[in-house]
Amino acid sequence: RIVYLNGDYLPEEEAKISIFDRSFLMADGVYEVTSVLDGKLIDFAGHAKRLERSLAELDMQKPDAFDDLLEIHRELVRRNDINEGMIYLQVSRGSAGDRDFVYPDASVKPTLVLFTQNKPGLADNPKAREGFKIISIEDQRWGRRDIKTTQLLYPSMGKMMAKAAGCDDAWLVEDGHVTEGTSNNAYIVKGDTIITRHLSNDILHGITRAAVLRFAREAQMKVEERAFTIKEAQQADEAFVTSASTFVMPVVEIDGAAIGSGAPGPVAGRLRDIYLEESRKAAV
Ligand code: PMP
Repeated sequence: RIVYLNGDYLPEEEAKISIFDRSFLMADGVYEVTSVLDGKLIDFAGHAKRLERSLAELDMQKPDAFDDLLEIHRELVRRNDINEGMIYLQVSRGSAGDRDFVYPDASVKPTLVLFTQNKPGLADNPKAREGFKIISIEDQRWGRRDIKTTQLLYPSMGKMMAKAAGCDDAWLVEDGHVTEGTSNNAYIVKGDTIITRHLSNDILHGITRAAVLRFAREAQMKVEERAFTIKEAQQADEAFVTSASTFVMPVVEIDGAAIGSGAPGPVAGRLRDIYLEESRKAAV
């Protein structure tokens, strides 16, 4: 695999960064994951914009190559011959050659890393025909979940808890209400209304969420942006999650309770179809 590191395209085994890099010592890094379908990038502009915001919120410098990111993504797709898959991008505050809580001065350049993940069958995911089984766990993450940082230990723990319970993922609950999934935004459907938590610092502002809500409104579906409880979700007609790598994924069970008929619902199915169709058309 050919990866990108600070201006160079290299075989992955030749791409090396300092052990003092702050992403390694402090999780002082931000990231984005962009999907590739038909060899093209899905929602690239949204991911670039959110990256810019994450950097600004953390007073992290933009990498010099910021304006070339689309070209770098495309070059990696070409060099690795990706038809369906993902591109992972990470910016970290770099390394001043020692460990220090204080940020290094502006002469220390951020570290920019990108790599591809080849995932044939990403769009025609058989899991979308089965749906996810979900457990709920307490949300123990920090308070700035709107910033897409590389501090992913708690989400990893949540996925491990889900796996141990024979499930696919966990929904995080704070003050009795669902914030989001470990790596996706969470939705329920009641009658003809799609309900998903409102934007704030408590959740990541999903790029897929923004697109799906736009398509839902364009298709005259009703959307309510508000918090909901696990109980409300268990009594809903449908549930689903969205993310760049799963698109729209139905949820069929929460904490052992079947949602609706216990099979993927029509609203989730329709939104998945619309999302895939429209974002393939808009891909760059
Ligand atoms: N919430 C969290 C916590 C996530 O990690 C992700 C995926 N990165 C999302 C939501 C979905 O965001 P997006 O649609 O931009 O992938």
